[in-house]
Amino acid sequence: RVPVQALLKRPADLIARPDQAHHARIPLPGDLFAPERRNSRGVEFGERAALDRLLADIKLEAPDLKPLADATPDQANAAVSAARAGFAAWSRTPAAVRAAALEQAAHLLESRGAHFIALLQREGGKTLDDALSELREATDFCRYYAAQGRRLFGSEAAMPGPTGESNTLAMRGRGVFVAISPWNFPLAIFLGQVTAALMAGNSVVAKPAEQTPRIAREAVALLHEAGIPKSALHLVTGDGRLGAVLTAHPDIAGVVFTGSTEVARAINRTLAAKDGPIVPLIAETGGINAMIADATALPEQVADDVVTSAFRSAGQRCSALRLLFVQEDVADRTIEMIAGAARELKIGDPTDVATHVGPVIDDEAKQRLDAHIVRMKKEARLHFAGAAPKGCFVAPHIFELKDAGELTEEVFGPVLHVVRYPAEKLERVLQGIERTGYGLTLGVHSRIDDTVEAIVDRVQVGNIYVNRNMIGAVVGVQPFGGNGLSGTGPKAGGPHYLARFATEQTVTINT
Ligand code: GLU
Repeated sequence: RVPVQALLKRPADLIARPDQAHHARIPLPGDLFAPERRNSRGVEFGERAALDRLLADIKLEAPDLKPLADATPDQANAAVSAARAGFAAWSRTPAAVRAAALEQAAHLLESRGAHFIALLQREGGKTLDDALSELREATDFCRYYAAQGRRLFGSEAAMPGPTGESNTLAMRGRGVFVAISPWNFPLAIFLGQVTAALMAGNSVVAKPAEQTPRIAREAVALLHEAGIPKSALHLVTGDGRLGAVLTAHPDIAGVVFTGSTEVARAINRTLAAKDGPIVPLIAETGGINAMIADATALPEQVADDVVTSAFRSAGQRCSALRLLFVQEDVADRTIEMIAGAARELKIGDPTDVATHVGPVIDDEAKQRLDAHIVRMKKEARLHFAGAAPKGCFVAPHIFELKDAGELTEEVFGPVLHVVRYPAEKLERVLQGIERTGYGLTLGVHSRIDDTVEAIVDRVQVGNIYVNRNMIGAVVGVQPFGGNGLSGTGPKAGGPHYLARFATEQTVTINT
């Protein structure tokens, strides 16, 4: 069997810096089979033969896809009690031991790469490249939070002692953290939340999305095997009602949530209505993400980056592009090139390596997207409609709107909305972006430095990508998360994330 590491070689210069010990980027579909796979530093990503062996290993996998029974509300409450009992021992476990368990988890994930890729494909509908990059992100989270955690929790910080006393500042876990995660990154976001909370010394009750419980179950088993005590980590599977039970529990000390803004608000209300200590919520939600392409942008690059940003992962990323603003002088040509690139996409079976766009997550998602497309066909100008096979697939679509205000909600799928703007009306574009109230990702394609600087300076968006695509934030490199309706911060995969899971204690000793 091929360890997946062969495909995930890390640039040596990054390995030398343990806080950035993440993987090299995984090659994207177009260059997956290219003979030459080196990054700009000349680092090789992997070999064709290793990829072939990995594909053969994936074929041999037959993940257990039997439905899981939902937990009952009583079981959810019991999980919180058990996690509460497990907190004392886990929070006193040295940070180095907690970090070592996360590193072991990363190692186990890599050595069982084929299995997790097969699971991501079968349960999550992920294409090969999406599954590979999700696996990479999951291992990155484990290693990155381990490295950050050693630094933050490994020792107390000595504070100044101007009054002759000794002062130290220590960080420790808060108590039981509830981690509620989405189906679109059933391994990476699930593990990102859970490992951060554990590394900070909390015990955890994890409630994964109801669509992807088996990946979560296997990830939890892997963490237990890696050294996380069973008493410190508990899994509760089922739908949103269980999330509501967990967040209403009087004994929880924090909630980390990734999902819709609406559910984040509901959790916030539940937490606020409780007596007792104020319980913090870390929420990462959606966005009506925009890209601005002006007349100085390279059209081929814009087309490539738009197609990746809007249609990769069937548009089911909260970072995905929804609203493209194109300067009107170049709009016709740009839209034509984007449609041309979209036409090349192969939509279908995610286990087929040639597939670019897999299914959407379930029938409900398909119905919602189909209804939006029907409405857009009446109200907007259709520039492109791809062909999707029968089943849970939604073909990429491109519509042109007269005004950005016509898109009032996040459409979580492969539908791109385009708006033309006259060069002198860039300000109106920025106002349109601000009016959405979201602030997650923004793409800018321009070769005028002043324009780029003015946009970056003006717009309150969590992740801005200039002259490239706007998805696939790399752990420890592009800390990820938004503002406004898009979330509370702190940024996942960033240096300030773990601190929000912890409490601080100052000890002053009169010596
Ligand atoms: N971190 C992912 C990205 O940068 C998106 C996460 C999400 O969809 O929730 O594409």
